[in-house]
Amino acid sequence: MKTEKYQAGDSVPMLCSACESETTHTLNTVTKLGKITSASCDTCQTASTFKAGVKVGVTAGKGKAPDVYDRRRKYKKGQAMMHPHFGHGEVTAVLEPQKIDVLFGDTTRRLLHALE
Ligand SMILES: [Zn+2]
Repeated sequence: MKTEKYQAGDSVPMLCSACESETTHTLNTVTKLGKITSASCDTCQTASTFKAGVKVGVTAGKGKAPDVYDRRRKYKKGQAMMHPHFGHGEVTAVLEPQKIDVLFGDTTRRLLHALE
């Protein structure tokens, strides 16, 4: 993420977990220092919240629902999923070949993936 100052209402290209590609996001709120605190995908309305430039929350928009979590599938950072218990989530980190951190709402949970 760039260090330039942003303003609410700016359009910024960034990775959308639901679209699984870089899309234009409209900034909802920024800090006094011009750091993004929340933004919504223009394509699917999925909203992401940030703290110190790190994504800390994600709220599913009205766009296409992501695929249901499958532990045999291999996930990558930024990918979205629909978990049967936790709901809409986004992969925030791939820790080990078979462990990922996934953000559900504002809670990060550790899940397995890429299992045989
Ligand atoms: Zn999107």
